Amino acid sequence: MVSKYSGRCRCGNVTYTISGEPVWNMSCHCNWCQTTSGSAFRTFVLFKETDLEISGDSLSSYEDTTTDHGRPMINQFCRNCGTQIGINVPNMNTRHISIGTLDQRRDIEIKDNIWWQEALKFVSFPINSDVYKTGYWNGTGEKIIK
Ligand SMILES: [Zn+2]
Ligand SMILES: [Zn+2]
Repeated sequence: MVSKYSGRCRCGNVTYTISGEPVWNMSCHCNWCQTTSGSAFRTFVLFKETDLEISGDSLSSYEDTTTDHGRPMINQFCRNCGTQIGINVPNMNTRHISIGTLDQRRDIEIKDNIWWQEALKFVSFPINSDVYKTGYWNGTGEKIIK
């Protein structure tokens, strides 16, 4: 397989390559993303599981079954430096890769924002972005008018 994307954690113990194009990408402003990142929101690029190959150290995982939206989420990170490589959502055939770990992150455009109703006060959205009140992936997200 020819790799199109690559990435790594801060210390370099975990690296990965991806052989396909992103399925979707977005910034998520939900409480879970805020607390697991220790920041205001998380930005993910989703790739097919079958396109992803992890090398080096295996990922450490924390499975959380107490999320607001009811879906269990598995946070995945480097056990040495703590970089959050991404998340796994059981029963999804895609992996959410944290944009900050991708070598090609400066070339990726993010248009969609989900979980606006939990976004922090200071967060603003670019004029051409799409903003959804809650989750968008399951089709129940309500698009808000800015
Ligand atoms: Zn690391
Ligand atoms: Zn989230």
